[in-house]
Amino acid sequence: MKCRVCKRDAQISLKSYNLNLCSNCFLEFFRKRVYTTINEFKMCTPKDRILVAVSGGKDSLSLWHILSDLGYRTCGLHIILDIGEYSQRSYQQVIKFAQTKSLELRVVSVRDEFGKSIKELAKIAKRPPCRVCGMVKRYLMNREAEAFDCLATGHNLDDEASTLLGNLLNWQEGFLSRQAPVLEENYTLKRKIKPFAFISQEEITLYAELCGIDYLEERCPFSRRATSLIYKGVLNKIEEEMPATKLRFYKGFIKREYFKGGKREELSPCKRCGYLTVGEVCNFCKLKEKVLERKNLTEGGDDVRRDSYLKGNH
Ligand code: SF4
Ligand code: ZN
Repeated sequence: MKCRVCKRDAQISLKSYNLNLCSNCFLEFFRKRVYTTINEFKMCTPKDRILVAVSGGKDSLSLWHILSDLGYRTCGLHIILDIGEYSQRSYQQVIKFAQTKSLELRVVSVRDEFGKSIKELAKIAKRPPCRVCGMVKRYLMNREAEAFDCLATGHNLDDEASTLLGNLLNWQEGFLSRQAPVLEENYTLKRKIKPFAFISQEEITLYAELCGIDYLEERCPFSRRATSLIYKGVLNKIEEEMPATKLRFYKGFIKREYFKGGKREELSPCKRCGYLTVGEVCNFCKLKEKVLERKNLTEGGDDVRRDSYLKGNH
């Protein structure tokens, strides 16, 4: 097997491109594709300050790695979710990466915001942990990106294709509008970019390993219940039989610009914080109010119990 570019021995076979490459030519191929995506979709310029959301996993750390290598001005953002030891290890991984590469990092914590962990918040909101976590992360990322030109996330082709499949299977037309590789700035919502939108998980893993990126392999314990894993599994099976299906699927969607003509939800500023939302108050502020109500109730409840105890009514 020979490298299609330099004709030396090839170690990598990319079935979806019907392409064999050596490690060096693969890295060059990878860099070019990320760079082309950024320019084609006018995601950012070298002058922009980019906030990169980093969890400690391979996608986000690879994204931070390549953006800084390509000369973009980046700062990492890590959100401590307080999901037991998984969160501690994620945080350590991000700190280590930032220190090794001498990159700037901002850290925010869910417990500092709410005084609760994601699991506790999910109970209060009576919602699955991933729903609450996703909403809280989106809000915090957007808020922290205020002083930046855009927010970059490590969403890859597998994420985009599986989300697209899920949205189509459930006919969630409103969500299709959020599936573009770049979402322009809109009032209080910062521009969001996904430079890996056309790059598969497999390619990112190769990149991370060839570049010696030390990432956390462990997944969040809540991810086992995520429906996106089912869609990913189905797409992987199709891909095995018919390489390049995921790429064709997502590219076909982007080409047809359904997301531009799709029904968009009517958004208006949250009455509490100004964040664009559906309805009067955003879900983040609603959750804060619920946490506060619960705290007042518990404290009030304690007082009532204490009073009745003192009065001998227990
Ligand atoms: Fe949050 Fe769910 Fe992802 Fe875990 S799997 S980080 S809970 S969204
Ligand atoms: Zn709000």
